[in-house]
Amino acid sequence: MKSVDLVIRGGRIVSPERIVEASVAIAGEHIVAIGHDDVMPPSAREIRVDGLYLLPGAIDSHVHFRDPGYPHKETWQSGSAAAVCGGVTTVFDMPNTIPPTGTREALAMKLKAAQRSHVDFGIHALLGDDTVAHLEDLLEAGATSFKAFVGNTFGNLPAPSDGALLEGFEKLAPLGIRTVVHAENSSIMARRQKVLQDAGRIDAHAHLDARPAVAEIEAIGRVLTLAEWTGARVHIAHHSAADSLYLLRAAKARGVDVTVETCPQYLLLNTDDIARLGGILRVNPPVREARHNQPLWDALMDGTIDMIATDHAPHTPEEKTRESIWACDCGFPGVETQMPLMLTQVNRQRATLMDYVKWSAVAPARAWGLYGVKGVIAAGSHADIAFVDMAQTGTLSQGRLHTLGKISPWHGRAVQGYPVHTLLRGRFVMQHGKLVEDSVGWGRSVKTIQAMPTPRPLNTQHYSSAIVKAPPGARPNAMPAEGVQR
Ligand SMILES: [Zn+2]
Repeated sequence: MKSVDLVIRGGRIVSPERIVEASVAIAGEHIVAIGHDDVMPPSAREIRVDGLYLLPGAIDSHVHFRDPGYPHKETWQSGSAAAVCGGVTTVFDMPNTIPPTGTREALAMKLKAAQRSHVDFGIHALLGDDTVAHLEDLLEAGATSFKAFVGNTFGNLPAPSDGALLEGFEKLAPLGIRTVVHAENSSIMARRQKVLQDAGRIDAHAHLDARPAVAEIEAIGRVLTLAEWTGARVHIAHHSAADSLYLLRAAKARGVDVTVETCPQYLLLNTDDIARLGGILRVNPPVREARHNQPLWDALMDGTIDMIATDHAPHTPEEKTRESIWACDCGFPGVETQMPLMLTQVNRQRATLMDYVKWSAVAPARAWGLYGVKGVIAAGSHADIAFVDMAQTGTLSQGRLHTLGKISPWHGRAVQGYPVHTLLRGRFVMQHGKLVEDSVGWGRSVKTIQAMPTPRPLNTQHYSSAIVKAPPGARPNAMPAEGVQR
């Protein structure tokens, strides 16, 4: 039998269907065999991990590594260190950097910065009025997918017009490319915020008052309408409200290809935490009333929400603790704390480890065309593994996080269940809870392994509206010239 590089013995392998105790053989970057201890090939190195669970490395569809543009908040190196220390092996980075990731030049700058990454990554490029004309260029230059800031957030990128969004979806639908949407209605929020500011409100609760759930309901409804009309694949970012779930359930039942993420903050925090956390909790969409928490769990359970992402969005302590809520930057770090937070809920029997693997790895791998290579522990897949100790207890501490934005609403929270080692394509990037420093630069773009998306056959009859060329036999426009009255 051919010798391999590493055999892991005694672990329990978790998939959405089952947990099995088996050994794993790894050669180079790939898993080559899974099976009984006795049938493992000879190996250069062996480790025993009795009692640990082996999860496919988490895939976080939503991080802001702030690089280029905000090196005091985060860099690719610091953000990716946080990721691998949190059991995450692939991230998708958002385009609200400086410059925004909407040109070939900006994309090249981001890819250069990402050469310092510890973690594998995809790049969401910007879908907006200024970029819609060259989406294909951005894909060719290395973008994996797109993001549309339909609701304004940090970076203040203008929301795409409905016309640009429709045009973007028309272009991306036949390519099978999925667009992440920040679904909140900018007009409602801008008006509300001005009214609140004019009334002198600067308290932390005013942030929620400016972004009512109806802003999310309206934007999701609009995005789903355009997605269904075009057949475009969409992904709803950071779903926060119970009230808009009915739209997603109905759209999924009709066959709209919409995937949905929520984040630990919407499952585990609510307005009761505002008094304690103030501006630290300021995030878009806002953390809402307690009545939203359980319906979001229910939606994960029934598949309306597909996955957990973090919206990892670090800022400095100074930027998060200013007197007026309007001056506190939106977002907080999350990529390193997601796994212990969610494993704690598994330990409390709110979900199974199998459910968690579905939400943290399988669903995002499927959404981004990576499943089979990533998102699963199987022969032939990348050896991306989070080794989890479900018994380990601890307290989350913002000072110990690897992010540069060392202020977190999770600070002081007791957890049970930690990733203790992380393997990325056969190589340890975190071991015994410690970053493997020389794994800097080991991460690479998933662009090359992304499966060719299948074009969607839906709604091709609508493409006539996108065709700029006149149909055969059409005559020049016979309408009278402008200003001529009949
Ligand atoms: Zn975000």
